[in-house]
Amino acid sequence: MKCLPSSKLPLAHGNILHDWHAEIVAIRAFNRYLVEECADLAASGLRSSAFLRHREEAEITRAEHQPFTFKESVQIHMYSSEAPCGDASMELVMDAQDDATPWPVPPPSSQDLEHPPTGLRGRANFSLLGHVRFKPSRTDAPPTLSKSCTDKLALAQTTSLLSSVTSLLVSPRNAYLSTLVLPASHHVPSAITRAFGPSGRMAGITPEMTSRWETGGSGYRFQPFEVRPVNQEFAYSRRSVEPSQTPVPSNISAVYTPKFQETLIGGVLQGRKQYDPRGASRICRKSTWKAVADLAAVLAVPALLGIGRALQYQDAKNLDLLDWRSAVKADVKGQDGPLKGWPENKGDDCFRLE
Ligand SMILES: [Zn+2]
Repeated sequence: MKCLPSSKLPLAHGNILHDWHAEIVAIRAFNRYLVEECADLAASGLRSSAFLRHREEAEITRAEHQPFTFKESVQIHMYSSEAPCGDASMELVMDAQDDATPWPVPPPSSQDLEHPPTGLRGRANFSLLGHVRFKPSRTDAPPTLSKSCTDKLALAQTTSLLSSVTSLLVSPRNAYLSTLVLPASHHVPSAITRAFGPSGRMAGITPEMTSRWETGGSGYRFQPFEVRPVNQEFAYSRRSVEPSQTPVPSNISAVYTPKFQETLIGGVLQGRKQYDPRGASRICRKSTWKAVADLAAVLAVPALLGIGRALQYQDAKNLDLLDWRSAVKADVKGQDGPLKGWPENKGDDCFRLE
């Protein structure tokens, strides 16, 4: 199922990825790469690299406080060999069924009754379209509260691709995805428009919301990406095997950036037990937070000095500096927002940096 069941979150301590679907691994690796790129820039004394630049003193404001930004000439593109799970692929899920009867929904557990989940579970009720969904899994698998890749990508059209801690260093202004490229065989235009487009469910973003986000020039806005089909199939796609062959899914995730590479299984480094802290990947929340805190100490930007001393991860995510980002998320996921029904994946916010 490639994500951590909600019951296991308290055991993760920031060391295990909650979700290792390919899109999420790619975005986490991208974020960690950016932190490394900032660290290299700080160490070199150069003002800019191929992708990032220092922001000038005169550019820094309370709303846009980050010491780094993407160069204005840079665009970010993402390729995925399958449609993202969740709302953008519901028609494909329906088409793939021999029997179009929706999967049965198991009766709620006692834990569900105590904290009722509001999103739709995986592929349950797959004829309901335009809804926030959890990661798909077998109905007999333990429940997860990780949101689908479609929902996380839709949210990134408002928060940018930056994670909370990366957005302390890098301005969101030029950090939005320009295009998402999908194989034509997995590109259902009506589903893409519904899931991501400004005329689909994201039409719920009101002018009042966007004017609030843009207050003070924070760099946050609604920046829809373009979804483009490509006819070429990925060489290892399940559609690329010979009829005589049977494709077998792999449990391995390969992480590649120009600055580091890793092989992950179960959200941790290959060869480590899942709950062994030595299995922590460079792209897990704790590693990325530590890298940001270490760099903040080197940069000696007064506003950032507290982030490593913040007692717990949840405090680092609730810094005043993240108020603009928090406001965007609250609007988009709130009762009147386009992604309402987005439950938080709570239970792994209390870890600290050693
Ligand atoms: Zn996914």
